[in-house]
Amino acid sequence: MVDEIVSMARSFGAGTGRGAIEPRVLNVLARIPRHEFVSAQLRANAYDNRPLPIGHGQTISQPYIVAVMTDLLRVGAGDTALEIGTGSGYQAAVLAELGARVSSIEIVEPLALEAGERLRRMGYANLATKVGDGYHGWPQQGPFDVIVVTAAASHVPPPLVRQLKSGGRMVIPVGAPFQTQQLLLVQMRTDGTVTTRQVMPVIFVPLTGGHD
Ligand code: SAH
Repeated sequence: MVDEIVSMARSFGAGTGRGAIEPRVLNVLARIPRHEFVSAQLRANAYDNRPLPIGHGQTISQPYIVAVMTDLLRVGAGDTALEIGTGSGYQAAVLAELGARVSSIEIVEPLALEAGERLRRMGYANLATKVGDGYHGWPQQGPFDVIVVTAAASHVPPPLVRQLKSGGRMVIPVGAPFQTQQLLLVQMRTDGTVTTRQVMPVIFVPLTGGHD
């Protein structure tokens, strides 16, 4: 799986503006047992470089996309991280393994409960999960060095921008549901200005919650 990520990153690297995925990120992806995050019937496919269904019409993201998003965030040990769309909990585990203090929000209650239970069982202590609409962020746990939104939004939610620390980074797919969206890298510069860069086309499940 990791070899495939490395070779995809080599082919598409120029597009993402990051030549290659950082070795730290690759090491974490190599270490985390992705098969623990999918149902028993899908275990044999757990290390395929593709998204897999996790129930409730949702998916665990393609490993290459997880790698690119994580790499863009430049997560440092001790960073505060917010994830919108816990899903299986895989991306949250990746952030935690990089040393971040992770808060993750999931709107589908059974998925949130299952992922919270899974992450606790796997021993992730520096990680908080809750059921809710991530559009509004989690101000009590912030502000955040990094924010990752793993569902496609029609626009960048202003509450999330407000919860970014000075120097903070957010990756978020923005565009119409069930069409190709653009992965954006949003950065809060130290002078308080916000920059946005289009990274690459992606396809994510929609951010629900009805705040268009
Ligand atoms: N990060 C996940 C993949 C998630 S798929 C993983 O690593 O497995 C996107 C998830 O976002 C879905 O589980 C979906 O239910 C959730 N979601 C959609 N809209 C949301 C919202 N407004 N707030 C929080 N979660 C949301």
